[in-house]
Amino acid sequence: MSSSMPPADSALFSIGQSTADVLVVGGGIMGLWAAVKAVQTGLTVTIVDRHRIGSGASGGLLGALFPWMPNNWDKKKQFQFDALTALAEELAPLEAETGLSARYRQSGRIIPLPKPHLRTIAERHQQDALVNWNQPSGRFFWHVGDVPPIADYVAPDLATAGYVEDTLAARANPRALTGLLRTWLQAQRQASILEQCELIRIDAKAGSALLKNSDGKETTLLFAQAVLAAGVESFPILETLLPPLPKPLGQGVKGQAALLAADLDPALPVVFLDGVYIVPHTGGRVAVGSTSENSYDDPETTDTGLDRVVERARQLIPALRGAPVVERWAGIRPKAIGRDPMIGPVPGHSNIHAMTGGFKISFGVAHRLAERVIDSLCGRGLGDLPESFTMEGHLVEMEKDL
Ligand SMILES: Cc1cc2nc3c(=O)[nH]c(=O)nc-3n(C[C@H](O)[C@H](O)[C@H](O)COP(=O)(O)OP(=O)(O)OC[C@H]3O[C@@H](n4cnc5c(N)ncnc54)[C@H](O)[C@@H]3O)c2cc1C
Repeated sequence: MSSSMPPADSALFSIGQSTADVLVVGGGIMGLWAAVKAVQTGLTVTIVDRHRIGSGASGGLLGALFPWMPNNWDKKKQFQFDALTALAEELAPLEAETGLSARYRQSGRIIPLPKPHLRTIAERHQQDALVNWNQPSGRFFWHVGDVPPIADYVAPDLATAGYVEDTLAARANPRALTGLLRTWLQAQRQASILEQCELIRIDAKAGSALLKNSDGKETTLLFAQAVLAAGVESFPILETLLPPLPKPLGQGVKGQAALLAADLDPALPVVFLDGVYIVPHTGGRVAVGSTSENSYDDPETTDTGLDRVVERARQLIPALRGAPVVERWAGIRPKAIGRDPMIGPVPGHSNIHAMTGGFKISFGVAHRLAERVIDSLCGRGLGDLPESFTMEGHLVEMEKDL
């Protein structure tokens, strides 16, 4: 165990059982960043996934990295802003070491304005962005205008009241990004990745996890600290560690997206209107999404809801009108009870940290959330993590709702 960890009970570590400073449960974007940050802090880490790394919600197509609106600025928006603006720098050394790319680009975003009242709101946001986004260097703006920011890109009949152009939004390829983190971890002596390895039970007091592989073989892993980053499955696992709760800690929200083959410049901005995202990627691919379903029978199938999203995307972007759909995909977003990410120590179990509930924003913030989690499990606290993002904060809100 590295010297930066708080001392664990040495009696826990017995010969014949595997051990790690940090056990990370779940190999999605949350768990992968947690493992990367643990290694960068000098800890040993074992990351387990019951299927494959990146096979959950993080194995999708879209990869839109959007800032929250520039109005009503608060700690939460600042945290997300700081995370988004730091992502390129976070990725650079990992890309250099692996020779892989996350296909990240700060491509900006266009929001067509189909109604005059939306223009009024957007103009107010322009003023808000001057104050709230003008940091640290004033690189980012939110501009409202009548001239299309890119000629012949967005259908003009859906922008009769003008356009918003922002330079802060970005995109990355979700599969390339998870692949990059996985490859980087594989090259680290202190990291081990166990796929087809499911967490069956976790004993916080003993610091042990019962794991089962695809052959049904069970093993025990002893840990000093554990991070529960099992996506939507984190909620029932966390509930086993808490006194009975009046309602579930979170739920899954299904989403569907599609990939189109289209000859669009991958440097083009992301387009967003009425919940539909169009994200130009590299390699002649454009992702469009997403549906949002609170109840669903099958988490993996796609249906006419996705057809409608594709149709809407084709109305918005004329260049997509003849573009064939090459992949349809669905996944389950983890949405915590308080809607924000659910991060930090589980009350009563300081050696277990939650890291879930990223809902629609995980890819832009997971690296920063991971930093706070690793700081916290090393005894340095959660720093600037907004109260509404903490495990504790979610439980307080749940109490208030009763
Ligand atoms: C259609 C769609 C579009 C989206 N678009 C965007 C977007 O543009 N931008 C954005 O930021 N976010 C987007 N999201 C949301 C984003 O994908 C999720 O918030 C994010 O992937 C959640 O990551 P995670 O690591 O928490 O969970 P997951 O990626 O689901 O990872 C959890 C992992 O835990 C494993 N696991 C579960 N239980 C166990 C167990 N008992 N033992 C071991 N392993 C276990 C699973 O196999 C899985 O691999 C989108 C989601 C969908 C569905």
